[in-house]
Amino acid sequence: MKAVLNLPEFNVIKQEQNEYFYRFTVEKKDPPYMCMQCGCVQFIHEGENIGDNVEFKLHQVKERTVSDISMHGKAVRIVIRHRRFKCSACGGTFYEYLDSIERNGKVTKRLVEHIKQLTLKRPFLTIAEEYGISHTSVGRYFREFVAEKEKDRRLIAPRVLGIDEAHLNKTMRGVFTDNENRIMLEITPDNLKRTIKATIQSMEGYKNIEVATVDMNAGYKYAVNELVPEAFVVVDKFHVIKYAQEALNAIRVKIKNGLPKDERRFLTRDRWVLLRNKEDLEWKDIERRMEWFRRYPLLEKAYWLKEGIRDVYNQSADKQEALERYKKWESEIPTEFKEFKEIRKTFNNNKKEIFNYFDRQFTNAYTESVNNIIKSVEKAGKGYTFDVLRAKVLYGTQATLKKPKYTEDMEFQRFEKLLGGKFDNQPIRISPPEPNEYDIVGVDLTTLSEILEEGDF
Ligand SMILES: [Zn+2]
Repeated sequence: MKAVLNLPEFNVIKQEQNEYFYRFTVEKKDPPYMCMQCGCVQFIHEGENIGDNVEFKLHQVKERTVSDISMHGKAVRIVIRHRRFKCSACGGTFYEYLDSIERNGKVTKRLVEHIKQLTLKRPFLTIAEEYGISHTSVGRYFREFVAEKEKDRRLIAPRVLGIDEAHLNKTMRGVFTDNENRIMLEITPDNLKRTIKATIQSMEGYKNIEVATVDMNAGYKYAVNELVPEAFVVVDKFHVIKYAQEALNAIRVKIKNGLPKDERRFLTRDRWVLLRNKEDLEWKDIERRMEWFRRYPLLEKAYWLKEGIRDVYNQSADKQEALERYKKWESEIPTEFKEFKEIRKTFNNNKKEIFNYFDRQFTNAYTESVNNIIKSVEKAGKGYTFDVLRAKVLYGTQATLKKPKYTEDMEFQRFEKLLGGKFDNQPIRISPPEPNEYDIVGVDLTTLSEILEEGDF
């Protein structure tokens, strides 16, 4: 295949290739125009005013190798015969200026732009290896890129704000999303209330936030209440169910650990079977479950408490019914189940917001899938700082989110602004059908899941 360098400032003197590389040996076409030392312009005039001449004499040629964007799957190296001139005006020497090469760098300028895009998607180390540059240079290009992005960024308050938390680099971080437009807005270094507040306040037009879907981290709800008192706050359904799953799981582990070793083998795949939604189990698993419940009645009790919370959501026709079902659920918690008593306390502290869901069915499913993305980024980039991970997630996913162009004939859906608790009779449902809580990707997040599948953060 023919490779074309396409850097007009150079004449290609030699092109070579082997299995892995293209190598171009080049020389700059034009002589220098100006001395890089004194700024004098070359001026050669034959005749009597010869003393006024400014002349650049070739002093030395040095070969310098730089990397360029790969071609046809092969790495590209450019060997530049870099010329050094002596200036007759100042007596100094200077290297000719190269327009397409990073100053003092080992790369072309266009490669730098390419690398900046790559840093969002791939580990720095593999980029460094591919282009024969240092890991620290890749890091520097990345930081420059992020700084450019941050400068241009306008954080605009969404109508439906999702606030969630994600465990990233051993710390809980706040995750902010625009749930309606499926856009990741921000990840904060921590999820303290003051950070959450400051982030909301940094959003242009935050007073216009109409709905906030949050988890039960106390700071979130109060942060929204204090800044936008009229916003409709909904505790995310999946978090409520997750709390119940975790309580069940803690009891399961306790029961299992209390068993003699030979009996413990009897409980296999128990986590999977018990945490799964009851309606998704196959018959053979239901049989195993029945056998466990015969032996361990406490496990059965805990299991139905978990499913009981799911039923509050799935079986209730309206808010009233949900409240009644919940009331029954809380009264059935045995005194020895401190795990469930704890979550009951949390639920009751957030009761209004939890049951707001039955007025308007907003959920955080989108934020949850974003969390999955964060986790996969973190896994791919072990050892990255928070800033790097944040930028990778924020700009890596945002860059790929496709926004359609406005056209006259595109479809629109009517939406009403929420006014003092009055709702239009067609609630805007942005939640997908309930996915398995431990396997959240079944959500219509095409672009984001594509990114996940590419798996090359
Ligand atoms: Zn000079």
